[in-house]
Amino acid sequence: MIASRLAKLRQELGKREVDAIFISQPQNRLYLSGFSGSAGFLLITPEDAVLATDFRYVEQVKQQSPDFTLFEMKGRSANWFSGLLEGRGMHRLGFESTNMTFAFYHELAEILDRVHPRLRLVPLENTVEALRGVKEPGEIENIQHAADLADRTFESVTAKLKPGVTERQIAWQLEKTMREAGSQSMPFEVIVAAGPNGALPHHAPSDRPVAAGEPVVIDMGARFNDYCSDLTRTICLGKPDDTFRKVYGIVRRAQEAAITGTRAGMTGVQADSLARSIIVAAGYGDMFGHGLGHGVGLATHDPYPRLSPLATPDPLADGNVFSIEPGIYVPGWGGIRIEDLVMLENGKVKLFSHAKKWHEK
Ligand code: ZN
Ligand code: ZN
Repeated sequence: MIASRLAKLRQELGKREVDAIFISQPQNRLYLSGFSGSAGFLLITPEDAVLATDFRYVEQVKQQSPDFTLFEMKGRSANWFSGLLEGRGMHRLGFESTNMTFAFYHELAEILDRVHPRLRLVPLENTVEALRGVKEPGEIENIQHAADLADRTFESVTAKLKPGVTERQIAWQLEKTMREAGSQSMPFEVIVAAGPNGALPHHAPSDRPVAAGEPVVIDMGARFNDYCSDLTRTICLGKPDDTFRKVYGIVRRAQEAAITGTRAGMTGVQADSLARSIIVAAGYGDMFGHGLGHGVGLATHDPYPRLSPLATPDPLADGNVFSIEPGIYVPGWGGIRIEDLVMLENGKVKLFSHAKKWHEK
């Protein structure tokens, strides 16, 4: 698993014209090495895979990343960075430009000027993230487990809710139940947005009591073996109003169109438009202000793939795991969002999430 990921990354080194890559992004570090500590860097060259970390993690690296060469970082970066590169004869070293801070970049560049004046730092984007976008069978099992935890928690907690319960109480019940059922941690804070609060797609739960008949957007996820799930349902305690029935129906149709219509080979823009065109035709285009979906994996928002009017033209591929989450947000009234976690298999969408959706009784 680690060996095949490193082999794929090494092919990228040639394409991107670098001799090696310096990895600083935490999830990329975990993905490539299996090391789950919170501090460290990888140096991947054609011949060697080095894990640089400090005293606290030396033993952990030996257990989790036995195939990596351990390099212990001692003192300031000026001391260890030149030692890490010593004797490797490199000219172009790739680094993760979207992750490294400006200050750290300058520190490293100054060290190179002094010690390795012929070595250039080459900014790279999304090298490892693109590999992470296509999931392996073991990753898919973990994601399914995380999705199951969220599904079961959603159904058991929402079955007991009565009007008057606050957003914060619902959020805590969901968090507590999910952790007790085995979620490793919370990949993101649970969103519970009732009534007008639902018009804010990422509203933080408040002490507002939920009234009968209003929409309640619940967005939640679990984490299992480091992999995340992401699930949104919109519910109603009591009898929904006409707006709820109408808007829910549009969002549901938009989501169904994307679930049944998305295919490997499409771009993220095309997949997004399957749902967006339905919401636009219904007159709510201005109220769907975010993309249709995002990659999910080690991060809740994995950079690949992206389903959005702004997505790059890379085609969707089998093994991609992503959300399909159209929403309509009506200022002053509230929001409806329905989010399922899915993957592409044999060219078509397969669902991970199965939690019940609202339907007219
Ligand atoms: Zn979500
Ligand atoms: Zn999402």
